[in-house]
Amino acid sequence: MKLVRPLVERLHAYIPGEQPKIKGLIKLNTNENPYPPSPKVLKAVKAAVDGRLRLYPDPTAQALREKLAQIHGCKTENIIIGNGSDELLALATRAFVEPADRGLPGRSAAVRGEPRGSIVPFVPGESAAARMAALRSGATVQYFTPSYSLYPVLADIHGAGRNPVPLKPDFSLPSVFELRRDGRWDFHAALTFITTPNAPGGRGYPTAELESLCRAQKGVVILDEAYVDFADENALELALKYPHVIVSRTFSKAYSLCFQRIGYFVGHPELIAALDRIRDSYNVNGLGQVAALATLDALPYYRANFRRIVAERERVARELTIIGFRVFPGQTNFLLVRPPVGAAKDWLGKLRERKVLVRWFSDPDVNDYLRITVGREVEMKAMLRAVRSILNRHVPRWA
Ligand code: PMP
Repeated sequence: MKLVRPLVERLHAYIPGEQPKIKGLIKLNTNENPYPPSPKVLKAVKAAVDGRLRLYPDPTAQALREKLAQIHGCKTENIIIGNGSDELLALATRAFVEPADRGLPGRSAAVRGEPRGSIVPFVPGESAAARMAALRSGATVQYFTPSYSLYPVLADIHGAGRNPVPLKPDFSLPSVFELRRDGRWDFHAALTFITTPNAPGGRGYPTAELESLCRAQKGVVILDEAYVDFADENALELALKYPHVIVSRTFSKAYSLCFQRIGYFVGHPELIAALDRIRDSYNVNGLGQVAALATLDALPYYRANFRRIVAERERVARELTIIGFRVFPGQTNFLLVRPPVGAAKDWLGKLRERKVLVRWFSDPDVNDYLRITVGREVEMKAMLRAVRSILNRHVPRWA
């Protein structure tokens, strides 16, 4: 007897970046912030490590939600906190998307025309084709490629269908007109993820473009703003304006708090309440709540770090361009770059030999590139030295 569900056995699980413990390693592979949390945050966390650890944390993270609501000019009902934004992205898949039939996710039930009355109410006079399309859309997770590689995994875990649609070749966002003309985009997909600014491309998307797309979309849209503090614009207003739009944020990257796992969604109270109904009672750990609250009392410290990281990003982008790399214009704390010679995967190994760890993705649409997290100036100088030494040594063989 099989103990594990076939869906789980077949699953291509998400592959997180490595966290090796190698002395002297310059770690530029997981977009962590090179600067530590504010001293105020460290003090608050240390002060909370006492006998209180025996107690359950606040199940609704009320104080944190209140403070975030105040900062974002909304109500606490607009906010839900997660164990990292990854947890919330997973909850959204479970709350808003129907699992498709077994076998061919997202397609088989619809193709056989099986009624799934709970998803799509029967409309008298509706054609069989229209009904099948509606059934399929109700079980579809949609996203652009390349973007955050967790989205397809979430769809697969849930047994939902996926609709990956390519960004334009320069990783900019296709317009609604272009998406309609192309025909692959599903304007009725139950859930659409848009990473903005994009990862791993790094491009920032204007709020006006995002708004046009949100307006055309019938299902839930999640604007995943994990890197937005390093960008020129944010789209928070859309989450407060449209009842089907959610903005996802995290304390991990900009606020140097990966270790504590705190993310949050801002959206319409009805969507937030749906997510709240299915989350674990104590999904956000107590020290994480303390750390996030203290973070919000130290925003000027973090803003100074954003400026340093953005300035370093621009400096490194210029230097890599001069050396011959193709560098995408980025609005995040990382750069997506294509080496001037040789395979990107080989560069990953050669940089690693020089104790510089960057990220390489095997997906065909990005496997010619390396993603380099922006670290401190001294780390980036070491990375550039390693790049130059690789070029000097290997160009004759690659040329
Ligand atoms: N969205 C994007 C685009 C990311 O790159 C990440 C980090 N891997 C996340 C969300 C999740 O961040 P966290 O769970 O740490 O909040």
